[in-house]
Amino acid sequence: MRTKIVAGNWKMNNDKEQSKKLIKSLKKSIKKMPLKNTRVIVAPTFVNLSSSVKKAKKSKIEVVAQNMHQATNGAYTGEISGDMLKAIGVETVILGHSERRTYFGETDEKLAEKVNTVLEKGMETIFCFGELLEDRKSDNHFAVVESQLKNALFHLEAKDWKSIILAYEPVWAIGTGETASPAQAQEMHAFIRSIIEKKYNAKVAEQVSILYGGSVKPTNAEEIFSKPDVDGGLIGGAALHVDDFTAIIAAI
Ligand code: 13P
Repeated sequence: MRTKIVAGNWKMNNDKEQSKKLIKSLKKSIKKMPLKNTRVIVAPTFVNLSSSVKKAKKSKIEVVAQNMHQATNGAYTGEISGDMLKAIGVETVILGHSERRTYFGETDEKLAEKVNTVLEKGMETIFCFGELLEDRKSDNHFAVVESQLKNALFHLEAKDWKSIILAYEPVWAIGTGETASPAQAQEMHAFIRSIIEKKYNAKVAEQVSILYGGSVKPTNAEEIFSKPDVDGGLIGGAALHVDDFTAIIAAI
């Protein structure tokens, strides 16, 4: 059975106090949930990671980073390395978010290097990808997603995939209020699994958790999560409100 995951990407939101408060209330709200085979993840900003890790101790919440640099250390002003994350108890990192690709020039090639570093360091990644609106309109969405995966991940060996979580986030659905329909999400997730099976084998394809991201809300989460190839969600806006995020977790 694949692991189910609900992850909140806080992006550049929540200061120190807000981060602590949100973790505290989330801890309480999910305490009694059975959460069988389900991981609950939050990704605060870098400056609030350490205190968030401490706050989440002895709870069902895992704290992850939103990005990292591919080098171990060096003259990379403003960057954070995998070793630095591990030193504060962070073992998982989101990579390739569309905002990183769009505003910070991250390419598939750069992301392939970052993924290699994640594996070298014994870490895990939630790897994001997804097509633009124009790709979908021109019926290129499958080709775009396939090339993103090929360029950034298909150099990996089958054994490496135990450290990879995929997050399909169609760019047109991020922060827009527009969601891929459950059928569109299922169609893409099944396609992703099929190309992984072709490249590797059925075992790798069956084991990898594929999250959907893009305007997931308490009102649509259950239907999206009910699809057989959707293993959870990567949540932006709705993860900033404890009631909404809790309702989404309850829908898994
Ligand atoms: P929204 O849920 O705000 O659309 O954001 C999705 C996202 O980008 C998660 O990484």
